[in-house]
Amino acid sequence: MAKKNSVLRQLVAKGTYNTDVTSKVLKAVRDYQSSHPQKKIFMMGWGYTTQPLSPLVIQKLIQTSHNLGNKETYTSYESISGNLELKHSIQNYYLETLEVDLNSSEIFVNDGAQSALVDVLELFEGSNSIAFQNPWYPAFLEGTALSGRDKFIELKCNASSHFIPELPKEKADIIYLCFPNNPTGAVLTRDQLQRFVDYARHHKSVIIFDAVYTNFISTPNVPKSIYELEGAKECAIEIHSLSKMANFTGVRLGWTVIPEILNVSDSSHGELIQMWTIRNAIKFWGASNLAQQAAISALSEQGRQDCKSIVDYYMTNARLFRQALEQAGLTCYGGNDNPYIWLKAPADWSSDTFFHYLLSTVGIVGIPGNFFGSQGEGFLRLSTLGDRGEIEEVISTLERFGDVGMKKQIMM
Ligand code: PLP
Repeated sequence: MAKKNSVLRQLVAKGTYNTDVTSKVLKAVRDYQSSHPQKKIFMMGWGYTTQPLSPLVIQKLIQTSHNLGNKETYTSYESISGNLELKHSIQNYYLETLEVDLNSSEIFVNDGAQSALVDVLELFEGSNSIAFQNPWYPAFLEGTALSGRDKFIELKCNASSHFIPELPKEKADIIYLCFPNNPTGAVLTRDQLQRFVDYARHHKSVIIFDAVYTNFISTPNVPKSIYELEGAKECAIEIHSLSKMANFTGVRLGWTVIPEILNVSDSSHGELIQMWTIRNAIKFWGASNLAQQAAISALSEQGRQDCKSIVDYYMTNARLFRQALEQAGLTCYGGNDNPYIWLKAPADWSSDTFFHYLLSTVGIVGIPGNFFGSQGEGFLRLSTLGDRGEIEEVISTLERFGDVGMKKQIMM
């Protein structure tokens, strides 16, 4: 007799980030819009990119499609760990932009970062403890639960610590870190990240470093790869993606780095690479060859310049929007090194009160901060991955409203 997976069933019953967004945020917007059909609503909570792929990437996609349609140039399955030319492009990208030297055997190409961030837990024993910060990126919590673990170690962080998480107080075997951070926008300086690396080396823990936003960093002295730090290859797996830096959210392409010298207590040199290779051969037969060819273009010299223009576009959005929010009397965090603004609710308003207030006044829809854990209470996450025209419209709405109402309301 078939039975439901009890872990997944419990997660569904409790509600996940995505189900909460649908049942609370989207429902509230629908309800509001049905009674205010004329009102302009700005959907600013989500990490959806809005700008087109670069012409270089488009050209490569067209050429690859033609190749796939031709018997002489058709390609079937690629190497499961990724097309070798792409792995070399990733290697060059690390070496030329970050001075980080990787072997191609240490690189595994994925369909974006999300699946790898969750699946990589399969490398580790079920009894291993997992730590991550509160407020968290939802996949860390839900992936941990999906792996059958009913507990996690919470690394608290809040405005007074500039959203820099504390080191684990109890022994953590696996530590998820995401910097620049989603949702708070915080970054770690070299010294702050080194403390986590030193902790991991000392306790023989593994850091899973979510590097999806490292290309957005502009603050000096902030590392763009964990491997810039001394000893990190002994203790860290890094997961990256072209989703935001190259507008690949729909194309789906990312990578995982597992260093050869990454050792856990009972592993030998290179064993985790071998285990991940075999796991992928069972469960994942590689990223799409179209996406991989597109990624080769995105990581070429011209492609990297195009990525920089994409990042500059979204970060200009962030700067303009943050200024407008601050002029309206609000306190903002983030928006400097990734395209998220972590907006503090005025006075002691809850996330929910603030969410409804912004929706019903200026029509801005963010994600309530308490969706990211208890430490997110009193905040709202806003994304600046929108189109500039939309950002300008929301800014002028804020300006019109701010003078007449928002500041007054906030002072209440
Ligand atoms: N990690 C973080 C922190 C993210 O914000 C996202 C997407 O928004 C992901 C991972 C997943 O990205 P991908 O599109 O590469 O799967």
